[in-house]
Amino acid sequence: MVDIIPHHGLTQWRFSSLTSRLAGYSASAFLTADGILVDTGIPVAQAEFERLLDGSRIAGVMVTHHHEDHAGNVEQVARRGIPMCLAPETQRLVRTVEPIRAYRRVTWTSMTPLSSALVPFDPAPLELIAAPGHSADHHVAWDPHTRTLFSGDLFLGVQVRIAHHDEDPWTLIESLEAVAALEPTRMFCAHRGLVLEPAAALRAKAAWTRALIATISAHITRGATDAQILRTVMGGESLTGWASGGEYSRRNFIRAVRFRIATS
Ligand SMILES: [Zn+2]
Repeated sequence: MVDIIPHHGLTQWRFSSLTSRLAGYSASAFLTADGILVDTGIPVAQAEFERLLDGSRIAGVMVTHHHEDHAGNVEQVARRGIPMCLAPETQRLVRTVEPIRAYRRVTWTSMTPLSSALVPFDPAPLELIAAPGHSADHHVAWDPHTRTLFSGDLFLGVQVRIAHHDEDPWTLIESLEAVAALEPTRMFCAHRGLVLEPAAALRAKAAWTRALIATISAHITRGATDAQILRTVMGGESLTGWASGGEYSRRNFIRAVRFRIATS
């Protein structure tokens, strides 16, 4: 299913599946007035995505990172010969799609790996800026003229206690602060849509994450186990943590902090 949501100077394509709606999730792509599409929607909505491509004038596509709710239809874009701008690491990851766990397969379905030739795209005046942390290949799309930020999965919310198994909270904090320093006036989050006062929101998330790391570090130093910290600091495992078999969980956040302390 797709909802078309107009904003000033751009259109939001908000994709969802029956299962993702039940879980309260959607994933959006954004089409600027100049025909630049940021992200490609979810694999399960491929037919709707292709209909939208048919009915739109697309100059080129920018991809924030390799996860299937952002890069889900890159092969469909490439097959049409539409130029695409994506980081080399993202390109590598979407050519060899890793098997995904059941919760992601059920929510978004697996994506078709990129196999068609890629036509490079210069998105100027928009820029693809590295903002790692959520994943190593994560980028944001930035329009310096309108000070509009397409934040991919950089933001998601202020109080995020949950982490992917390969997420790096310290790198995430650095990215949040670096992107906030651009002083965006509006931000489009792939999962929350329009976020007002984005610079303050990004800084609030950086500060909140820093404080959470400090609290977890203090517990680890005092000898607490992951299970104890999960209970006392995190309020137990999240529903997503259980559903994802731990791949996207609060326990991963604690593990990341413990690993950093052990290796620093
Ligand atoms: Zn993601």
